[in-house]
Amino acid sequence: MKFKKSALVIAMMASAILAGCHINNEMSKAQGSAQGKHGEVVVETTFSNGHIVNIDVIKQHENKVLAAAVFKDVKQAIIDNNSVDVDSISGATVTSNALKRAVENSVKAAGVTLVAAGAVAGKAQVAQPTDYTYDVVVIGAGGAGFSAGLEAMEMGSSAVIIEKMPIIGGNSLISGAEMNVAGSWVQKNMGITDSKALFMEDTLKGGDYKAILPWLRRW
Ligand SMILES: Cc1cc2nc3c(=O)[nH]c(=O)nc-3n(C[C@H](O)[C@H](O)[C@H](O)COP(=O)(O)OP(=O)(O)OC[C@H]3O[C@@H](n4cnc5c(N)ncnc54)[C@H](O)[C@@H]3O)c2cc1C
Repeated sequence: MKFKKSALVIAMMASAILAGCHINNEMSKAQGSAQGKHGEVVVETTFSNGHIVNIDVIKQHENKVLAAAVFKDVKQAIIDNNSVDVDSISGATVTSNALKRAVENSVKAAGVTLVAAGAVAGKAQVAQPTDYTYDVVVIGAGGAGFSAGLEAMEMGSSAVIIEKMPIIGGNSLISGAEMNVAGSWVQKNMGITDSKALFMEDTLKGGDYKAILPWLRRW
């Protein structure tokens, strides 16, 4: 009987320790929000033992193209580093900051103290060639750059387009895509009389008469 009693006490102690471990390992979740470029960004962050283990972006209205890398790469960097002190994505700074602030607010809401992350396993370094040779090198992957690169390739040249931003498209990507064309079918349908001469005059005026005339006349 005596043996059984001590066995019972040990069993109770073991289950208490296990229960404690269970509580430590328990996941908790909290939401946080911050203002993005096009509205509120809301996240639900999952924590375990002072670590961010998952971030769900549950509401956002950011530009699909520009924000894609933020909700993938910045999110992953926050999880890997267990910190919101990570690099933003150039070209999507407001969205990057919104994600970071939203996660930060979720950490506050959860009352979690984030522990220092262990060393993040670096990506395997792949040897890259040091020299590249192309017939045509285009700087800037916007509308003009793509046109130039494609034109060069269609003429049989090898071409490369170099872009400084992590996202291609430049202003062309966010433009309204309305075309200024004199004598278009839209103008004709609307009864607007236009001409190349008027278009040239408008273009000159719009550019404070700084346009290079032979270039303007070329079209
Ligand atoms: C909000 C908005 C709405 C617009 N709406 C219209 C419209 O409705 N109709 C219209 O006709 N026009 C519109 N425009 C203007 C039109 O978008 C631009 O005139 C046109 O996109 C310019 O094209 P681009 O290729 O010269 O430049 P961009 O498309 O801006 O491309 C330039 C690229 O070069 C890159 N770059 C710059 N410097 C370097 C460097 N040193 N190294 C590497 N890369 C570099 C940039 O990051 C960028 O990606 C609009 C512009 C804006 C901003």
